[in-house]
Amino acid sequence: MAETLSLPAPTPTGDSKEYWSAANDGRLILRACRTCGKPMFYPRGHCPACGSGDLEWREASGEGVVHACTIVHRAPDQAFRARAPYVIALVDLKEGPRMMANITDCPPEEVRIGMPVTVWFEARSETIAIPQFRPAQGEKK
Ligand SMILES: [Zn+2]
Repeated sequence: MAETLSLPAPTPTGDSKEYWSAANDGRLILRACRTCGKPMFYPRGHCPACGSGDLEWREASGEGVVHACTIVHRAPDQAFRARAPYVIALVDLKEGPRMMANITDCPPEEVRIGMPVTVWFEARSETIAIPQFRPAQGEKK
């Protein structure tokens, strides 16, 4: 009988605690700068655009488009082997920041650059859910 390995999960720390807490509630939030207005990803203590430490959390739409993608056929970690082939993509969020995620609910070879995608949250434990993306509603596969 095959052993089921648990998938890795992040450990929330200082600047990311609220982000992971929201993700576990099924909400994507972005840290944004109150000085220059720009949202950022990943969450930081200072704005990468202007250096300000005056930041706030904003609700993100969860919408984005695929900026780049690759298909993993041989998972580097045993925990992911049952999942292969799977897609790792850079997703440009509607709000601007770019984040890395899997594109799911779509045959890997059909994921393409510019494809509209929507966030969903994959539970990894009782307290951690990972933002992932799937083709947006109405998107033809
Ligand atoms: Zn700023």
